Amino acid sequence: MILYIQTNPNNPILRQKAREVKEITAEIKQLILDMIETMEKAPGVGLAAPQVGQSLRVIVAKTSRDEKSETISLINPKIKKSSWKKALAEEGCLSLPQQSYLLIKRPVKIKVEGLNPEGAKVKIKAEGLLARIIQHEVDHLDGVLIVDK
Ligand SMILES: [Zn+2]
Repeated sequence: MILYIQTNPNNPILRQKAREVKEITAEIKQLILDMIETMEKAPGVGLAAPQVGQSLRVIVAKTSRDEKSETISLINPKIKKSSWKKALAEEGCLSLPQQSYLLIKRPVKIKVEGLNPEGAKVKIKAEGLLARIIQHEVDHLDGVLIVDK
């Protein structure tokens, strides 16, 4: 099901710290499937649960912009390490459709941990675009938008 994307940057749900997922219920699994569908349709390369009105620590991301892209779903993601090296690149946000792309500086490599929809712990080493997407989505879980950067 395509979900409605919150596009008011003053909406409290986009501005608060999202809650940890305590139990991966059928509703959470369905939310993830719906978030993936919504991201694909938008189209976008990442989506965080607060953007679809759920204050929960859940993100989905595409691993690249091409047709070989895979989709990553992470529950309670935590960035464990960030590279010292940073890079500037343009970012947009599905919740800020009126905002033009902004140049955002972020670490180029990260290590992130979280749970997959089956409840297994996953560790991902990401760099480049994927590292950027994950950091952008984790920011959403902490109520941070690119206009704040
Ligand atoms: Zn965003």
